[in-house]
Amino acid sequence: MGGWSFSLQAHELAHQWFGDKVTCGSWEDIWLNEGFATYYEGLTYTYGLGTNTWSNWLQGKRTQIMNLPDGSVWVPDTTSVNRIFNSRLTYSKGALVLHMLRWKVGHDNFFQAVRNYLEDDNIGFNYARTAQLQYHLEAQSGLDLDEFFEDWYYGQGHPTYILDWWNGGGQVNFNLLQSTSHPSVDFFEMPVPVLFKGQNQDSLVVFDHTFSGQSYSINLPFTVTEVVFDPELWILAQNQVTQLVVGTQQPEIAGELRIGPNPVKDALNYHWSNPELSPLSLELHDSNGKLLNKWTSPAVTGQIPVGSLAAGVYYLVLQTEQGSIKTKIVKQ
Ligand SMILES: [Zn+2]
Repeated sequence: MGGWSFSLQAHELAHQWFGDKVTCGSWEDIWLNEGFATYYEGLTYTYGLGTNTWSNWLQGKRTQIMNLPDGSVWVPDTTSVNRIFNSRLTYSKGALVLHMLRWKVGHDNFFQAVRNYLEDDNIGFNYARTAQLQYHLEAQSGLDLDEFFEDWYYGQGHPTYILDWWNGGGQVNFNLLQSTSHPSVDFFEMPVPVLFKGQNQDSLVVFDHTFSGQSYSINLPFTVTEVVFDPELWILAQNQVTQLVVGTQQPEIAGELRIGPNPVKDALNYHWSNPELSPLSLELHDSNGKLLNKWTSPAVTGQIPVGSLAAGVYYLVLQTEQGSIKTKIVKQ
């Protein structure tokens, strides 16, 4: 060891299981050594050990990983020592992929599966490949993790979630959109925790997110005043949460155009409530009525970039077969 810091001692102790007892079977699988040793260092902070805290450690890793849009935990080039021992991908992202596996399969299943992996006669005091860790996680949880490993181990980058919500119909409603930072992954399918806060109560609910633009409505015994995406930071992702409000002008058309934030700085989120009456177009006009941009057959839920517009008043116009809805927007 090149020093005696708490973090290094924790990391090297973890290697006695992950690295020494079980050694990665190829440089492709180096995260089985370094991802585990890094994650287990982080876990020591959840027990109040060391001088760091879990939330500080976790935030530091997240910032480091998401600073760049690309890179996989899997090592595609095993001739490059720099890539094998890449701190951002092999160590940090490897650790947070383990953290997400714990979220996906559940705390008890995760640690039991890891114990089964270490005690497997073909793995303990021997070599392991990533597929063998996947096997034990699947055997313990009963889940199929092919897609998870495809996205988070072989795939590159991370998702950004856009959560638009509103109260209506005695329920809290929201749309969840996702974009990815790298084209190697179309969509990260994840269980997504959302915290709903009210006056004196709150409620954490986990939703299965299977496609971008998915809509949800739930009944809660209190009025929601604030929504927080993944409050405990299980998912390696960026997020934007916006409360949508009904626009300023509402003619007799079967549907509501909700927008937010308003005033807006960079991107305006919108939601059209009636998919039966598909929007023909969305238009952006300036305060004099001049057409600035037009989107034909837009999705019922989406985002319009407005970052390049000068500050002032604009109008968003949604055209339907029954007529148009014009909504005032204030650009900051
Ligand atoms: Zn190490």
